[in-house]
Amino acid sequence: MKFGWTADNRGLHKRRMFFGLALASTVALSAPGSAGGISGVDVTGNRVVVRFDGAVDGASAFLLDAPRRIALDIHGAQVGRAYVGPGGSTVAGVRQGQIDGDTARVVLDLSGPATLGEPRIASDGKSLSFSLQSISDTRFRGEVGKGRTRFDAPADMAARPQKRIHSITVPIPPVARGVALPPVEGAHDGARPLIVIDAGHGGHDPGAINKENGKQEKDVTLAIAQAIRDRLVKTGRVRVALTRDDDRFLVLQERYGIARKLGADLFISIHADAAENADAHGATVYTLSETASDREAARLAARENKADIINGVNLGNQSGDVSSILIDLTQRESLNISANFARLLQREAAPFVPFRSTYHRFASLMVLKAPDTPSVLFETGYISNAADSAFLSSREGQQKIASGVARAIEVHFARKLAMTGNASGG
Ligand code: ZN
Repeated sequence: MKFGWTADNRGLHKRRMFFGLALASTVALSAPGSAGGISGVDVTGNRVVVRFDGAVDGASAFLLDAPRRIALDIHGAQVGRAYVGPGGSTVAGVRQGQIDGDTARVVLDLSGPATLGEPRIASDGKSLSFSLQSISDTRFRGEVGKGRTRFDAPADMAARPQKRIHSITVPIPPVARGVALPPVEGAHDGARPLIVIDAGHGGHDPGAINKENGKQEKDVTLAIAQAIRDRLVKTGRVRVALTRDDDRFLVLQERYGIARKLGADLFISIHADAAENADAHGATVYTLSETASDREAARLAARENKADIINGVNLGNQSGDVSSILIDLTQRESLNISANFARLLQREAAPFVPFRSTYHRFASLMVLKAPDTPSVLFETGYISNAADSAFLSSREGQQKIASGVARAIEVHFARKLAMTGNASGG
């Protein structure tokens, strides 16, 4: 099967999501008057109707696990004053929030695994209705992995003049220094997926060091990041940028800040671990979690996060005025994608790169904390281990890692696009 690489509107959507996080508290209040305010959410048995006091443009839905929820993003809608509260037997509760000036989100807390049946927007654009279909746990998890399903307003609504796309400056968490955005290389088509590769450490922060041969993590990570970049550029299918292309220091916030500013679809931070035990070897993929999956993951997070503490950077200035519900929801969607990519990375790279038996771990890693960018931290191996150190430092080893990462990226975006295609067909 052959996939194109230009998905509909994905860049735009991504940016909207991002605006929402930064501006939810301000833009929502000065929304365009033509939008449809949510006037009610009716749950009767397994039937759900979301009513608006004006016509909306379209909507999309996705499922979230632990706890199970259905999120509806309604374009051209505003959060209304209508009371939305406890629902029926399948719906334990209903919440709403403004994602950006143009998009309202309604969240249904589910009391059991269920999915949407026959979602449709009425011909006058003033209501969205669907049924709740109970499904098995396994299928629910499968649906969560599929991501977003879009459904448009009926054709006669689409003929209406499009609302203007807001052009606004995006405030992102302030960075300690003015960091210039790196060049974006690869495909010239701006709709192609953008991958930001982050070479860990750099400048006065060498990262881990092999005491025998003096190899430094910062050099290995840069060489590997560059090899991945070159490989991806060669495919011509994606766009790629490096957070650093030379031996310089960046604080962790600047690293994911670059990915956010560029609107990256995927962020991969490259590292090479060290352990007291010189026998420890193999690669591990980390994704974000508030609690570490094990002692080793906690230890790693403590060490990697120290890069900033050493430099006395204040990290307590995250956008605190933004609703924590919205951050939670967006981050959870990103976390699902990140975890899927972590598994894929191991599957695709294992023929080239030795992995540890527990190859996917979770930790509270600062560099993975962009709430809206799927992110993984790839510990490519142990620089403290003789064989790993030689592999990671060699051109051949770096090429092998690049091959594995490029294959995983290819499958990841082909899969994502196939799902979007299926979803918009129904
Ligand atoms: Zn590191």
